[in-house]
Amino acid sequence: KIRVRYAPSPTGHLHIGNARTALFNYLYARHNKGTFVIRIEDTDTKRNIADGERSQLDNLKWLGIDWDEGPDIGGPFGPYRQSERRELYTKYINELLEKGLAYKSYKTEEELEAERETQKSLSIAPHYVYEYEGMTEEQIKEAQAAAEAKGLEPVIRFRVPTDVTYEWDDIVKGKIEFKSETIGGDFVIQKRDGMPTYNFAVVVDDHLMEITHVLRGDDHIANTPKQLMIYDALGWKRPEFGHMTLIINTATGKKLSKRDESVLQFIEQYRELGYLPDAMFNFITLLGWSPVGEAEIFNQKDLIKQFDPKRLSKSPASFDQKKLEWVNNQYVKAADRDILLDLSLRNLQEKGLVEEEPDAAKIEWVRQLVNIYAGQMSYTAQISEMAAIFFTNPAQLDEASLAEMADESAAIAIKDFRQKLVDLKRFTAPQIMAAINAVKRDTGVKGRKLFMPLRIATTRSMHGPGIGEAIELLGREKTLKHIDETLA
Ligand code: GLU
Repeated sequence: KIRVRYAPSPTGHLHIGNARTALFNYLYARHNKGTFVIRIEDTDTKRNIADGERSQLDNLKWLGIDWDEGPDIGGPFGPYRQSERRELYTKYINELLEKGLAYKSYKTEEELEAERETQKSLSIAPHYVYEYEGMTEEQIKEAQAAAEAKGLEPVIRFRVPTDVTYEWDDIVKGKIEFKSETIGGDFVIQKRDGMPTYNFAVVVDDHLMEITHVLRGDDHIANTPKQLMIYDALGWKRPEFGHMTLIINTATGKKLSKRDESVLQFIEQYRELGYLPDAMFNFITLLGWSPVGEAEIFNQKDLIKQFDPKRLSKSPASFDQKKLEWVNNQYVKAADRDILLDLSLRNLQEKGLVEEEPDAAKIEWVRQLVNIYAGQMSYTAQISEMAAIFFTNPAQLDEASLAEMADESAAIAIKDFRQKLVDLKRFTAPQIMAAINAVKRDTGVKGRKLFMPLRIATTRSMHGPGIGEAIELLGREKTLKHIDETLA
């Protein structure tokens, strides 16, 4: 039975890259009717942020991902927060200490720093030098007692075997191997504060939680041989590993990093702009995975059915915000209008363009606005700019607009139209269009010479939705005000 996990550290909000890891694990579990576990890796207490866990989980839920075991719902292999599993780590640390496969190390930070400096000056790769080289058991005990007497706190290091090659058949990348000499020497498995390190805790947890497949970002590749050593030392069966390729930001051509400000990278940011969760889910799946065939728009059900980790790409995935906009637009066009209305209202309220508690008429008005723009919006926050003519009063007409009204027929048509608008019984698009036809009949002005001046005079812009709809949404009062400004 397949068991996979997503193991976020609550050191930040849900990033596109982490969301991808979560999503692929989720799809893999659901495709195989396996179990998807969430585990919080919070042992790096200095880096945890207050709201990290809640925000991670909340954004996963928003994306439409659910899990079978986790810190919020528990499960048979809990607890699901590393900070609550310390006794378990201590137990296995002690086992390694007793077997002589790990030891207490008292080198101070200063000594370690000096060691690295020397290695650097000799151009050798930095590595930890075993501090008890050539000593007998007895001598080691004495050295350790002396360090304790000085009040030094130890870390616990794993004794890295010499001359062993660690290899695994990576689900994504194929065969990978590391020689034990290349990993930098005996590594720390328990820090001075008594907390296990990531490499140790992850093995204990993946083993005890019976994880069968570890799918994670390839920034962890160099950690895998260390983890394999611990599996071997404790006599545990290794899970399968798959390391997903890095993500390149197409805008910069560089690795997508959290510091890169050229694109939005946190799920929350897209959420605020009114992106739709299904679109995000769809888009993220295409970061380093490809379905059979050319189609790019999939719902979650299709993805679960199709997901095969063999189709995870070996080459870097490119993150293209423009493509994400395109995908989202596909979903916006098909979305339930009530959902778009809610999102648009929120976006407009955030910009102060619609009051906090709009009345029913105002909500209907926004609904019409949404209907007009739904086809063009990449995401709902764009509505405030797309529909700017309904919210702002552009002070001055630009050159191009003035040129459209240079002919004296323009003023004649506008004045006639103004009177007809005043007289209109019902101020709706069809009536407004009929009024325009009447202007044509009564003044003889037609074509572009008629429509452009009327559009510009009423909406104060050369562009926009259909003129009848636009004028209806502006309302009589505002339309007449615009016309008067234009004629003044
Ligand atoms: N907590 C680790 C991370 O956020 C998890 C790595 C793993 O999946 O083993 O990168």
